[in-house]
Amino acid sequence: MDNQPLIAILGGGQLGRMLGLAAIPLGFRCRFLDPSPHAGARQLGELIVGALDDPGALSAVAAGSVAVTYEWEGVPAESIEQLVREGHRVAPDQHALRASQHRGVEKAMFHSLGIATAPYVLVSTLDELRAAITSLGTAAILKTCTGGYDGKGQARIAGATESELDVSSSAAWTALTQGREAPYDFVLEGVVPFDRELSVLAARADDGTTVVYDLVHNTHVNGILSTSFAPAADCGPTLQQQANAIAIRVLDHLQYVGLIAIELFQVGDELVANEFAPRVHNSGHHTIEGAATSQFENHIRAIAALPLGDPSLRGYCAMMNAVGALPSRAAVLGLAGAHFHDYAKAPRAGRKVGHVNLFAANEPERAVLVKAYEAAVRSDR
Ligand code: AMP
Repeated sequence: MDNQPLIAILGGGQLGRMLGLAAIPLGFRCRFLDPSPHAGARQLGELIVGALDDPGALSAVAAGSVAVTYEWEGVPAESIEQLVREGHRVAPDQHALRASQHRGVEKAMFHSLGIATAPYVLVSTLDELRAAITSLGTAAILKTCTGGYDGKGQARIAGATESELDVSSSAAWTALTQGREAPYDFVLEGVVPFDRELSVLAARADDGTTVVYDLVHNTHVNGILSTSFAPAADCGPTLQQQANAIAIRVLDHLQYVGLIAIELFQVGDELVANEFAPRVHNSGHHTIEGAATSQFENHIRAIAALPLGDPSLRGYCAMMNAVGALPSRAAVLGLAGAHFHDYAKAPRAGRKVGHVNLFAANEPERAVLVKAYEAAVRSDR
């Protein structure tokens, strides 16, 4: 119905689509802005085809909305600022977006909040890189401060001797400067000897109330998220308490409204922050059927100034990403506890086209179900 309150979403990929799937039962209409007429969210509401920095398209998508949000932290901050100037409610706001868009700003924010990060030095010349590598040790990662994702815009540096480090630094410098223009804006990070990669999802409402989800254990293949297990196995209360404190400190500092995802390294009993995303996140997809309130619903609730919902998990979840191609729907749905999610995207190597959520009553049963899933997918190829 046209008189239902409207939510405007910048970006109509799978995250926009799943935000739409959560917003509709709450009584909202959605309108999306995406450069592609084939955007997967087109099935969930009106799609305006246009660039995310096109002032006319931005005004058009936001017209008459109760809230504007975005599915991608690459949205230019200027676009958000335009919409704020035009009087729209945009959440998360431009300050959170800007902090997430620059690795240096992001790390300085974590530090100011007493949250551990990898040791790092900002560098803009090869000489600065050479000086920084001697202070950070024998293994480091050079990253672009802006625009990197899924491991892109990064190069590893390693060497046992000074001359090996010099050669490796030059190679990393060449790899990252190729196709980019000076002045360069890079960060050199010491390699964190992590045991595993975790993430924490949390949401904050206008009135400052927060909810935090159980820690998620993530694995990657070729830099792309492959699986997420929640709750993460062998996660004592101390780690979860640390994660809660980190999430709430960041949310309160940013006066944040909406859902946030913070990527973490676990080193022994300590959590080290890597980066945050001011949006719903791939490592929270298990919450669709796995939590009392999904990450998507809590994001919609927060941006629409509604009370947040219970983040408790209903069981032991495993999210299996489908990258490049979808598994057979019939094979997957033959497994008790499996839920199929198709993003309506054309299959292409390296592209996230869907995911499967698996649910079990406890950790050992989850492990059995994951094995059964892998066998079902293999035997159907
Ligand atoms: P990012 O784009 O920062 O999320 O990095 C992509 C991946 O590279 C992470 O998921 C980690 O597996 C790895 N990585 C990034 N930074 C570090 C670091 N400082 N130490 C160790 N591994 C890292």
